[in-house]
Amino acid sequence: APKENPQVVIDAHGLPYQNAKLPVKKRVADLLARMSPAEKAGQMTQAERNALRSQGDIATYDLGSLLSGGGSVPTPNTPEAWAKMVDAYQLRAQATRFQIPLIYGVDAVHGHNNVIGSTIMPHNIGIGAGRDPKLAGKTGAVTANEVRATGIPWDFAPCVCVTRDERWGRSYEAYGEDPALVEAMETVITGMQGSPSGTDLDRNDKVLASAKHFVGDGGTEFGSSTTGAYTIDQGVTKVTREELEAVHLAPFTESVKRGVGTVMPSYSSLDVIGDDAGPVKMHANAEMINGVLKDRMGFDGFVISDWQAIDQIPGDYASDVRTSVNAGLDMIMVPTAYQDFTKTLQAEVTAGRISEARIDDAVSRILTQKFRLGLFEKPYADTTNLDEVGSAGHRAVAREAAAKSQVLLKNDGAVLPLKASQKVYVAGSNADDLGNQAGGWTISWQGASGATTTGTTILKGIEKNTSSATFSKDASAPTEGYDAGVVVVGEKPYAEGIGDVGNGHDLEISDADKKAIDTVCAAMKCAVLIVSGRPQLIGDRLGAIDALVASWLPGTEGDGVADVLYGKRAFTGQLPVTWPKSESQLPINVGDTAYDPQFPYGWGLTTLKKVPTGGEATLTGLAVAASLAERAGLGKTTAGKEIVDRARLLVQQKAGGKLTASVSKPFAEADHLLLTGDLTGAVAKLRTAYRAA
Ligand code: BGC
Repeated sequence: APKENPQVVIDAHGLPYQNAKLPVKKRVADLLARMSPAEKAGQMTQAERNALRSQGDIATYDLGSLLSGGGSVPTPNTPEAWAKMVDAYQLRAQATRFQIPLIYGVDAVHGHNNVIGSTIMPHNIGIGAGRDPKLAGKTGAVTANEVRATGIPWDFAPCVCVTRDERWGRSYEAYGEDPALVEAMETVITGMQGSPSGTDLDRNDKVLASAKHFVGDGGTEFGSSTTGAYTIDQGVTKVTREELEAVHLAPFTESVKRGVGTVMPSYSSLDVIGDDAGPVKMHANAEMINGVLKDRMGFDGFVISDWQAIDQIPGDYASDVRTSVNAGLDMIMVPTAYQDFTKTLQAEVTAGRISEARIDDAVSRILTQKFRLGLFEKPYADTTNLDEVGSAGHRAVAREAAAKSQVLLKNDGAVLPLKASQKVYVAGSNADDLGNQAGGWTISWQGASGATTTGTTILKGIEKNTSSATFSKDASAPTEGYDAGVVVVGEKPYAEGIGDVGNGHDLEISDADKKAIDTVCAAMKCAVLIVSGRPQLIGDRLGAIDALVASWLPGTEGDGVADVLYGKRAFTGQLPVTWPKSESQLPINVGDTAYDPQFPYGWGLTTLKKVPTGGEATLTGLAVAASLAERAGLGKTTAGKEIVDRARLLVQQKAGGKLTASVSKPFAEADHLLLTGDLTGAVAKLRTAYRAA
């Protein structure tokens, strides 16, 4: 049995690759030259831990990697048990000829979300709403810290997808619909990995990231999948070459710039309009993976397939293996067929259908990351930070992220912020449900309703602010003279596929939620919070609602939501996606020629201190400030954002929350320009919006 925290003795065999003082490149070359075809094939294989016939198979097949798929958790599901579990697998890898450590991977897509008691961040859509790159970076750092503390050096995150149709069930995994917004949030990669050079990866609070899913996962067509009329996940992305570059590829260029260690291709197919090729499965797309990602962008990490995705390539298994590896995949998430895979891969090499050079390239890429992560020196969990999993400090970051993610869509009756002295009536399906507010990818793959982990529901957060809150989930008898009602509605957890279909209609809230809104808003001034992974349709209720908030999936820290409800923090969030009027408007995105949504991309009222209303004059001043800031290179900094935010406030104040198309369009365009660093352009757009207001 391994000691508490055993370390490999450096230079155990006295071989050069085990010498940590040598440059990584030399170590890789030395080790590669010693490896057999079977050992190389093993490195390219990733099995699911539950699929192992026996733990001995790790050494028998020289497996390079294991993963925990969503919900593949140890018993008990504690941070300590995770570290022990991973160490036990790692011990098996130490029984191989060259003691090549495993690289263990997990989906920690909003905090270390498989582990009970971990800090659960808002899902990416909420991080996008927060528009705070620094904070996004912090959430990445917290996640990395918790993941690495449990002995796991690799996280299948972030999703740098650009969601173009909210009927996509993975919309909440995207930072938004504008590539510039997604790029701005990629600070999360730096938070996870540290320096783009990879030199921080051996720290006990850093992990290897994975930008996914390459490329176009967020752009699949509605109804294009064979699995159902509502399904858009894993379908076909049909785009022009220009759109492919500007919308879907751009965020990956940013990931590569930030030194992302791995990239995961998409289950979807790509169909470039004007090309004759027709739809090509991304896992078979050599032009994109070899050509664009590796050659053009210069990506030097390794490409990990998605779960069983090569099986979807047309042809028999040998052809799946050959096609995907020749297209540039370096490691295959098998996840059960590891024996078949290593055998088939070797046979294809022997037959000359995959070159040895291709195999050596793939294995070198994998080994490079293992060396960078310091796994050869320290294969076992460094549990120093184990007590930081779910710590108060980490939860404070998640709380801030939750608060900043809240988008105030409407605030007519000035019902928000609430006051502690007010008698408040709380209702709705998502007011007191931790699992629902955390969403999918939480403890289990699909997530689940109820108290699945530790944290604070929105109701509990409210109750910390006032002693006079009454809760009734289904809004029965709200008759006692309340000052305000808070109705929290929305979706139930889901992951991948089509999402929560509610009453059979993807984006419409349930009948029970509609009833709760109607009952409460008829009886008192009301604020409605929508807890969901994407915009929801509430019928014609907007007029009856005094305040409307898009809460997204805020995670375990309901306190953050309560903070903005009670004015401890101002609402500052902005829509990361367009909020449609009806399902018939979908897909709808900022920049569309006919753009008349319910709320435009970038919209969000703020309860920040009011800007002095100097009208046009103030805007002129801001325009000057913007151009100076831009020239000083401050385009993408907080200072730059503040200038544009002030202009945004002027428009909001003048429009009074009532948006016409002529106000909303330039408003949305301004947000895009801000993200690209064009402050002058952004303020000019807001000036147009101001005049129209
Ligand atoms: C998802 C990936 C995920 C993988 C491993 C797949 O179903 O598409 O995003 O990383 O599973 O859990």
